Amino acid sequence: MIFQLKILGNNSAIPAHDRNQTSQLLQLDSRYVLIDCGEGTQIQLSNQKIRLNRIKTVLISHLHGDHYFGLIGLISTMHLFHRKHKLTVFAPSELKEILALQLKASETSLCFELEFIPLNHDGLMEIHKEEQFTIQSFPLEHGIKCYGFLIKETPKQWRINKDKLPDDMLIQDIITLKKGESVFDENGSIKYALDKYTLPPRPSRTYAYCSDTMYNEDIITYVQNVDLLYHESTFADEMEERAALTHHSTATQAATIAKKAKVHKLLLGHYSTRYKDPTPLLDEAKKVFDETYLTHEGETFFLKE
Ligand SMILES: [Zn+2]
Repeated sequence: MIFQLKILGNNSAIPAHDRNQTSQLLQLDSRYVLIDCGEGTQIQLSNQKIRLNRIKTVLISHLHGDHYFGLIGLISTMHLFHRKHKLTVFAPSELKEILALQLKASETSLCFELEFIPLNHDGLMEIHKEEQFTIQSFPLEHGIKCYGFLIKETPKQWRINKDKLPDDMLIQDIITLKKGESVFDENGSIKYALDKYTLPPRPSRTYAYCSDTMYNEDIITYVQNVDLLYHESTFADEMEERAALTHHSTATQAATIAKKAKVHKLLLGHYSTRYKDPTPLLDEAKKVFDETYLTHEGETFFLKE
């Protein structure tokens, strides 16, 4: 399965320095999940030649405008393109009313189904499941209701070891082994032992998105061992006090979460406009966690199998 993340926007609060407000597109084979939808998102989607029909799911972390002001515009464009498929939006509950009012005021009756699933929970919760992946959400600490998201590839099947495969093995026995079970004969004796004929499944890939949040060690348990973690990093160390006051994080704090959660790779973003060049944020973060990368708009991060 293709599992890749495209950065559509990475500036905080306002568009600046040719950077748009937060938005990311996660591609899981032919399915696209849009994560946050700042004002410039649909222009970015168009620049990246993304087919809007493929976006089936939208995750909105919280209702600060720089994370969702682009959504009504995107929905409106989908309507003008005569979209037929349902679009499912997961967001804090107040967004339902906001969207309904915007559609009512413009006398728009959407030509597709807009499903709204409110986020209103504590702890880690599974909010969506498909054959190839699940989406879980968890609370962040940002002054207003705010959620992070964890997207996990569905556990894979065991792999048949072709070098050990007998010519006469039946299809149903192969299916049993792929499920991770040994095959027994009619007398209950072992016919094909799992460990002899198979190799363990390839690891399932995981992506965690931590939108706006102040430093909070609760996050560590939610994002433990993920392959790729995005954690906002609005400020450099010199602004640590301001980060706490505004419920944001420094790059060093993002790296500390990444290190303590033993993630494989950390992405920074949501840069304050004061940083035309966010390299100092990267330098500070790398002192704590070396596998840290800046995000740039249009850039794609691949999660390899
Ligand atoms: Zn915010």
